[in-house]
Amino acid sequence: MKAFFPGSFDPFTKGHLDIVARGLKLFADGIIIGIGYNEHKPGRAEAAGRAAAELERLFEGVPRVEIKIYDGLTVDAAAASGAGVILRGFRNAIDAEYERSLADANHMISGLETVMLAARPELAPLSSSMVRELLHNDYDVSRFLPTPQDCIRACEGEKA
Ligand code: ADP
Repeated sequence: MKAFFPGSFDPFTKGHLDIVARGLKLFADGIIIGIGYNEHKPGRAEAAGRAAAELERLFEGVPRVEIKIYDGLTVDAAAASGAGVILRGFRNAIDAEYERSLADANHMISGLETVMLAARPELAPLSSSMVRELLHNDYDVSRFLPTPQDCIRACEGEKA
């Protein structure tokens, strides 16, 4: 089975990479990273395009990971790409509640199940919004962002 891992990934962090690497262990046919955007919000398509280009670069050496951009419903994008399950992560109780209601809604409208992985404790404080805030203040965020080498190492070490 393939899993669909949706998000905005603005930017894609080591927390996201950990979910992908652990997901590959569970879903032998691979993971589709879906970059969602809302076509009615100005500039979002361009931002999604930039995120996709970056993700293509990061996962070039990992054959079981595909990158897709989508607008509209996540469940439709997941089904269209042949995924049988949605993959998400959660860092804390607030995330967990939010993810639960998303998962419930997605199940209600499509029957698609969501598998949620708890963030590893050392990665739980890491979020895209935190990285953006640090970047905005000229803080060096490189240790929070994976390199293509990190992606290969993390994903190869987690073979199904
Ligand atoms: P969205 O905008 O849909 O919340 P994000 O790009 O922020 O998307 O996150 C995508 C998914 O990755 C979400 O399920 C989120 O909870 C999860 N995630 C983000 N950061 C981490 C982390 N540090 N550890 C585990 N999961 C994470």
